[in-house]
Amino acid sequence: MTIDEIATKVTNGERLNAADALELYRRAPAPLLGQLADFVRARKHPERVVTYIVDRNVNYTNVCVAKCTFCAFYRDVGSPEGYVLGFDELFRKIDETIAVGGVQLLLQGGHNPDLPIAWYEDLFRAVKQRYPEFKLHALSPPEVIHLSRLSQLPVPAVIDRLIAAGLDSIPGGGAEILVDRVRKALHCYGKASADEWLDVMRHAHRAGLRTTATMMYGTVETDAERLEHLLRLRALQDETGGFTAFITWSYQPDHTELAGSEATGLDYLRTLALARIVLDNFDNLQASWVTQGGKVGQLSLAYGANDMGSVMIEENVVRAAGASYCMDEAEIVRNIEDAGFAAKRRNMHYEILGDPIFREREVPRMLELATARAAGDTSMPEELRLYPARSRAAKAARTSQIPEP
Ligand code: SF4
Repeated sequence: MTIDEIATKVTNGERLNAADALELYRRAPAPLLGQLADFVRARKHPERVVTYIVDRNVNYTNVCVAKCTFCAFYRDVGSPEGYVLGFDELFRKIDETIAVGGVQLLLQGGHNPDLPIAWYEDLFRAVKQRYPEFKLHALSPPEVIHLSRLSQLPVPAVIDRLIAAGLDSIPGGGAEILVDRVRKALHCYGKASADEWLDVMRHAHRAGLRTTATMMYGTVETDAERLEHLLRLRALQDETGGFTAFITWSYQPDHTELAGSEATGLDYLRTLALARIVLDNFDNLQASWVTQGGKVGQLSLAYGANDMGSVMIEENVVRAAGASYCMDEAEIVRNIEDAGFAAKRRNMHYEILGDPIFREREVPRMLELATARAAGDTSMPEELRLYPARSRAAKAARTSQIPEP
């Protein structure tokens, strides 16, 4: 089939098969890909509104046994740079988030063997008791699998327990590329195979949770494997309808074991456009300004994105790998409006909450994203002593006065 014939299929609203999609991705010029993606975006969102959410991206621990080679964020068990946030620190972060109009925490962390499922349940319950309306968008599929292994409970039981404690939705992190050849090469097959990642989402959707889906590209995968990832998400969305949105970003290589170089801006825009065309059963695509910067983030709105993601407030993972872009609400809104769209605040379900907060009341400008902890602070929260540790280092710390590494 020629590129023109494939393009006509897209504008007629026909689903592309793998061969058509790959041909389009490989051979269509970027302006055409963008035009087709924008066509699909406009068909799904004719109202010319671009949304964003005010929330905070908090990483509760950086201690992780998974050791993915593309990750610059994690620290080994026993590392002097390892941390676990305390409940009080998390409450303070929620207070600060609510003060700038935030509605949820995006809560993710390393696979810490010294945090049992009871720690998560107690944290979620405590958050819900203090902030009944505040949402917990928490624990990506590999973290759920980690908890399942740690507690020796099946994944559906873990999800049920977390929902009972206050979990509202699951972020789509840890998907990387949902092809096992790639996952093995990146040392992330052990934390979750492609099937296992999809299965967590299947169970979450069946349990009534909505989730997002992500793709981190630009490591060792081929273009056909990027497409396979999208097709696997599309198939699960056909089955459950549980994904609210798709977010893609490029691998950030600084300070990682894998190293290498970052994909270019044009590669990002082409990949985003492909996703918008292929994921015909996803309502929303987010721009990833936190990895691509504000300017490419804004261009994303012409390549299929209808959402600018999160104001974020705090970020630790991408920063550890060398990217540190910051946009507060005013800057996000400026980029949306300059691109010719109306800017609206939303929640995780993509329900419109209103106009920009800073136009309703005074909100302090944010010129830098916060971090999980002040540099060098690895103090151990008191309540950790209530939970049994598995590692020798944490066992020693919890029964003594020395700080837990
Ligand atoms: S990406 Fe996540 S699971 Fe992998 S090493 Fe980093 S923190 Fe651990």
